[in-house]
Amino acid sequence: MTDTADVVVVGAGFAGLTTARELARLGYSVLVLEGRDRVGGRSHTGAVAGLPVDLGGTFVGPTQDAVAELAAELDCETIPTYHQGKNLINWRGRVRSYAGTVPNLSIGGLLNVWRVRWQFARVARQVPIGEPWTAPRAAELDAQSLGQWLRSVRASSTTRDLLAIMARVTWGCEPDEVSMLHAARYVRAAGGLDRMLDVTDGAQQDRFPGGTQQIALKMAAELGERVRLNANVIRIEYDDDGATVGYGPNTVRATRVVVAIPPQHRGAITFTPELPSEHRQLVECWPQGHLSKAYAVYDTPFWRANGQSGESLSDTGPVFITFDVSPPYTGDDPGPGVLLGFVDAREFDTWPAEQRRERALAGFAALFGEQALHPIDYLDHSWGTEPFAPGGPTAAVPPGSWTTVGPWLRRPVGPIHWAGTETADEWTGFLDGAVRSGRRAAAEVAAALPVRR
Ligand SMILES: Cc1cc2nc3c(=O)[nH]c(=O)nc-3n(C[C@H](O)[C@H](O)[C@H](O)COP(=O)(O)OP(=O)(O)OC[C@H]3O[C@@H](n4cnc5c(N)ncnc54)[C@H](O)[C@@H]3O)c2cc1C
Repeated sequence: MTDTADVVVVGAGFAGLTTARELARLGYSVLVLEGRDRVGGRSHTGAVAGLPVDLGGTFVGPTQDAVAELAAELDCETIPTYHQGKNLINWRGRVRSYAGTVPNLSIGGLLNVWRVRWQFARVARQVPIGEPWTAPRAAELDAQSLGQWLRSVRASSTTRDLLAIMARVTWGCEPDEVSMLHAARYVRAAGGLDRMLDVTDGAQQDRFPGGTQQIALKMAAELGERVRLNANVIRIEYDDDGATVGYGPNTVRATRVVVAIPPQHRGAITFTPELPSEHRQLVECWPQGHLSKAYAVYDTPFWRANGQSGESLSDTGPVFITFDVSPPYTGDDPGPGVLLGFVDAREFDTWPAEQRRERALAGFAALFGEQALHPIDYLDHSWGTEPFAPGGPTAAVPPGSWTTVGPWLRRPVGPIHWAGTETADEWTGFLDGAVRSGRRAAAEVAAALPVRR
C-alpha cells in the first residue's frame, strides 16, 4: 500500500508531533510514523501505586517558553517542584544537610568548586551555540573531554565528583566521555549552569502532576489518524521530487520528510541514495547516553516531617540525585510521598529487577533513613535497555564530533529535514529543545513547499 502526503514525519516525540501539528495548521497533509506502540518518545508517563510518574522527561523551568506555551495551549498544568526544607548530601561516607544548589563543603572545597564553575562559564560564553565549531578555541576544546579539561584547570576531586554527577544526569555519561566543546555549548544553550541545575529559577522548577506524556497524547489526539503507531521506518528513498518512506511492507510518498529522531537512531534507516558521508558519521558521533530512574512511594512524605526537601546528592551509587515528586495535597492529610531517584545506569541496568529494587531502596535509606526501605510501591526504568530506539536523556557527544560533523547535524539532504532535541539551539536535550526543533523544521519545510493557506 502506498499512501501520499505532503510531509512524512518520522518519530512521534515532542519534536515530531510539534512539526506535524505546525504543518497541519498551515494546511499541509502530514503523516507521522512512530516505531513504538505509543507516542511521546523520551516522554513516557508510567504509574506507581496508581500515581502518574515520568519515566523520562519530567521537569520544566523558566525560559523554556516553547514547551510552556505548548503545555498551556493544551491545558496541561504545572506545579512547583517541592523544595522546602534542607537538602541532603551523602559525601565521603557522611550524610549532611545543606541549603541551595552547592553543598556545604570545606572552605577550600567550596573555593575550588566556585573557581572551576567560573572558568567553565567563561569558556561557555565564548562558544556560539548555533555554530560551536567557529568558537575561538573550538579545536582545542573539542579535542578534550570535560574530564580532561577539569584536570587541566586543577579541579579538586570533590569538584570533579560533583561535575561527574552533573554529567551523569545531564548526558547519561561520565565526564571523560563528553567533549568539552559540547559540554560548554550545551550548558550555554540552557542559559548557564545555575539555570540548568537549579530548582528555583532553574530547569527543575516545575513539573506536570499528570506527567509530561499527556502533552504528546494531546498533540497526537489532534492529529488523529495522521499518527501511525508500530510504524518503524526502515528505509527512505529520495530524489529531487520527494521521498518514499518505508515501514514494514508499507510505503508513503511525500514531497518532504522530517526525521525527528536522535542522530544515533538515524543509523537504523537505509537511505537511498546513501546520505553524504558526514551525515553517516553523525550516527557514530552523537551516541545516546544512559540514565535510569527509580521511584518509591510511601504512605506519607516522611522526610518533610524531618525538615527535609527530599532533594539530595550522593557520591555513592546507584542513587545519585533525588527529588520529592509527591502529588500535591490540600488539607491535613499529607497523602502519599514519592521519591524520585536518578540512578547510575552503568551498573544499575545490568542487575535483575529484585536487586535493582533492593539497591535503589538502600540508596534512598542511606539518605533519608530506614523508613525508606519500606515503600508501598516501587518502579524503575532503564532507557538504555529499551528494545526500540534506546538511550537517553540525550546524546553524550564525544570529543572530536562537533568540529568534524557538527555543521551537518541538521543540514537538509534533498527533501529530507532533521528535527529532535539534539538539533535545537536553545535547551538542547530538553523537552523545550524538542519543541523548538519541531517548530524550526516545520518552518524549513513550509518555506520549501507552495503555500497552502
Ligand atoms: C530519564 C530521562 C529524564 C529526562 N528528564 C528531563 C527533564 O526533566 N526535563 C526535560 O526537559 N527533558 C528531560 N529529558 C529529555 C527529554 O525527554 C527529551 O529531550 C525529549 O523528550 C526528546 O524529544 P524528541 O522528540 O526530540 O525525541 P524522542 O522523544 O526520542 O522522540 C523520537 C521518537 O522517534 C521514534 N523513532 C525512532 N526511530 C524511529 C524509526 N526508525 N521509525 C519510527 N519512529 C522512530 C521513537 O520511538 C520516539 O518516539 C529526559 C529524558 C530521559 C530519558
